[in-house]
Amino acid sequence: MRFSRQLERSALLRARYDLAVPRVLLLLPTTTYRAPDFLDAAEKLGVDVTVASEEPSTMEALNPAGLLALDFADPHSSARRVVQFARTYPIAAVVGVDEDTAVVAAAISRALGLPSNPPEAASASRDKALLRRLLDAAGVPNPKSRIFALSGDPVEAARGVSYPCVLKPTFLAASRGVIRADDPASFVAAWHRIARILREPDVTARGGRSAEEILIEDFVPGAEVAVEGMLTKGSLEVLAVFDKPDPLDGPFFEETIYVTPSRRPEPSLVEVEKVVSSGCRALGLSEGPVHAELRMTPIGPSVIELAARSIGGLCSRTLKFGAGMSLEELILRHALGVQDRSPRDPRAGGVMMIPIPRAGRLEGVAGLEAAKAVPDVEDVVISAHPGQTLVPLPEGSRYLGFIFSRAETPARAEAALREAYGRLVFDVR
Ligand code: ADP
Ligand code: CA
Repeated sequence: MRFSRQLERSALLRARYDLAVPRVLLLLPTTTYRAPDFLDAAEKLGVDVTVASEEPSTMEALNPAGLLALDFADPHSSARRVVQFARTYPIAAVVGVDEDTAVVAAAISRALGLPSNPPEAASASRDKALLRRLLDAAGVPNPKSRIFALSGDPVEAARGVSYPCVLKPTFLAASRGVIRADDPASFVAAWHRIARILREPDVTARGGRSAEEILIEDFVPGAEVAVEGMLTKGSLEVLAVFDKPDPLDGPFFEETIYVTPSRRPEPSLVEVEKVVSSGCRALGLSEGPVHAELRMTPIGPSVIELAARSIGGLCSRTLKFGAGMSLEELILRHALGVQDRSPRDPRAGGVMMIPIPRAGRLEGVAGLEAAKAVPDVEDVVISAHPGQTLVPLPEGSRYLGFIFSRAETPARAEAALREAYGRLVFDVR
């Protein structure tokens, strides 16, 4: 519903085309939270936009330059389709928003001769098993891992791993299906739980062969940080490092609070940058946004995730560059080859992804105004809608919403998020 309104908006805004204005092809899956922020950024830059999504829109005929249906599951056919499209409406840049569309964007860019990640590199960062192999081969610190066929015997697998460990599908996101096990019994239970997720028809369809395997990693304890970076010709610029102040000990790994800048000492941030940079080289990533998650261990950072995309959900709203530039604008500028760097807003920014407390139907949310009134809170966005069926982790992949704060210090940004969250009451039945 909301997505189609976004499409309509882009259709009405851009129901024209001017060959003198560069055109950006945005790959927006219907489930993305990011459509409005990317469309705002494009509007601000004054570029023309073609929105590609998986579902054909009834608006497509009204605005053939602005809307395009692509099968994101098939990067090659998408690339062929866009090459054809670009004969009429030349494309200056292609931008994806998540792991899947990053692969498609790389394939399209390659076909159009635009600078981008090699498609194999984008694919590698989408496949957690391949990511581990490439990081291991390059000597980049990351958890020890083993891949198992889902058709195998979990009881036998449970005997061959060390504990604690983490079981996960290789291709899902938002911590969906990521489960810690401390002993063989919890290992087998987690295995069956993940198998059920992988057998959901839409998940099986999306995963293909990846839906038939399960990745087991050593559990790496320690504080976790997230890194937003931008690659240009293989060189990494760190845009922000976020601390995740809530403990992430499992058994499920709900993302909650992200606060930037990091409060970690400078030498450890230098280490983080080095490790992310060598991770990008190991995968062959060279252009565009990267998002990494690392655990800080006594012997240095360990790479949990490294993806050819920017931060998910609405979390990018914590970042402001130069004169109010958004991360989405920075990404579009980079894709268009506009290389001006503006320093980040020096204030601290925080976001809380509001987790789903339990399964049920969302009846309503109280306390929204009180939460928004907390000093240093910039905004509270409830993205779940009344009547929506809520699915908590590890099966679910959505949040109730997002709280944003901006303050003089990271500690205050964090405190504001907790205070605002405390004022919200979710009626889930
Ligand atoms: P997703 O792509 O779904 O976000 P991740 O592999 O990033 O999946 O895992 C989600 C979260 O689970 C991580 O941010 C981390 O907190 C936790 N996690 C995953 N793997 C490990 C591991 N091997 N050791 C410790 N924590 C882990
Ligand atoms: Ca992750």
